[in-house]
Amino acid sequence: MKYDLAVVGLGAIGAAALFQLSKRGVSVLGIDQFNPPHQYGSSHGESRITRLAVGEGRDYVALAMRSHQIWEEIYSKTGKQIYYPTGGILLDSGVHAWGKHGTKSFLDQTISYANDFKIIHELADSKTIKARFPQFLVEKTSKAYLEKSAGYLLPELAIATQLELAKENGAVILPNTKVKSIQKSPTGIDLDLGEERIEVGKVILTAGGWIKDFLPEETSPSFKICRQVLHWLESEKEAKHWKDSPVFMWGFGSQPEDFLYGFPSLDGETVKMASESFVDCGHPDLLDRTVTEEELLDFWKNKVQGRVHGFSGKFRKSEVCFYTVTQDARFKVDFLDGLDEVLMASACSGHGFKHSAAIGEHLVEKLFGEDLTVTLES
Ligand SMILES: Cc1cc2nc3c(=O)[nH]c(=O)nc-3n(C[C@H](O)[C@H](O)[C@H](O)COP(=O)(O)OP(=O)(O)OC[C@H]3O[C@@H](n4cnc5c(N)ncnc54)[C@H](O)[C@@H]3O)c2cc1C
Repeated sequence: MKYDLAVVGLGAIGAAALFQLSKRGVSVLGIDQFNPPHQYGSSHGESRITRLAVGEGRDYVALAMRSHQIWEEIYSKTGKQIYYPTGGILLDSGVHAWGKHGTKSFLDQTISYANDFKIIHELADSKTIKARFPQFLVEKTSKAYLEKSAGYLLPELAIATQLELAKENGAVILPNTKVKSIQKSPTGIDLDLGEERIEVGKVILTAGGWIKDFLPEETSPSFKICRQVLHWLESEKEAKHWKDSPVFMWGFGSQPEDFLYGFPSLDGETVKMASESFVDCGHPDLLDRTVTEEELLDFWKNKVQGRVHGFSGKFRKSEVCFYTVTQDARFKVDFLDGLDEVLMASACSGHGFKHSAAIGEHLVEKLFGEDLTVTLES
């Protein structure tokens, strides 16, 4: 079998790349070891936060803006709404300096990019926060950044819709098929699928945390696999403010784990919230996917209780997901060791979803050697 191009891994980034490639009139194959969208990688769990003043890096601002445009284009074409601009609030205790995803002063950096890129925003003190958002039990010293264009994305819908569009454009999708190795052949690139081999011209490799299977032994440890737990807490009946709440991110201490983020209630009964963890478990296949009672109690006591209003500590469900974290928390987009025909992307480090649509486009332009719509610093 021969294809001009293949995308290996159809999570957030791969689905976006396949969709963009399928518009080019070339023969394209998308392969995933599971049946995407699925719950085993980094792209599941109902919702992802998006924001334009991306404190993680100046170059990411244009990437987030371009992704919003692509999601709007998809909405006009299909009627599928992936992006919900609920507004977003970034809360800071005003006492502890805190960093996020490789950036030291996250709030300051966010405000500075919002000013530079003329992103509509407001700043608020604790009095204003309490008056407008009683769901957040902030300290007197607290301050906040509010962005209108921030909101949430539906990750499963984003993946499914881009894969459907790719299929409509002629792409072939092979689910439940693991690529065991990628090697140069005399006429192109050979994908080893175990029982069969497929020859393709070029490859976009978007394997998420499984990127480690394709990297040389010395590079692989620089990609950490960090287990994350998402919780859906039952909100009390009188806590009506969660339905129209902005998405929120709250740095309440100096450690990366002193952090809580969450979403408006999507079902009117539960609110999804989570913190972050940066402990390396080594490989996605080694991930512990069970959530213990101790973890629930720890999350309730140390992150939620006394911080947000409207909960009594009842959990409806919890799910495990993982980040693939690079040393500087930046995305890696590069040709795979010695192969000009294989472009890999590791775009997670806990903040990649909001950029995924534009990264898909970026990968295709880079592979074709074209002018880039959005430039990414390496
Ligand atoms: C809990 C959590 C919360 C997050 N919150 C946010 C947020 O609010 N905002 C934000 O912007 N970002 C967020 N992120 C980050 C974002 O979700 C990730 O950056 C993004 O989903 C990564 O997508 P991916 O395509 O790189 O990886 P994945 O979605 O894991 O996709 C990789 C795919 O490759 C396939 N694959 C791997 N190896 C092979 C192989 N050998 N053969 C075939 N297929 C293979 C896998 O099956 C998988 O489908 C969060 C991440 C997590 C885990």
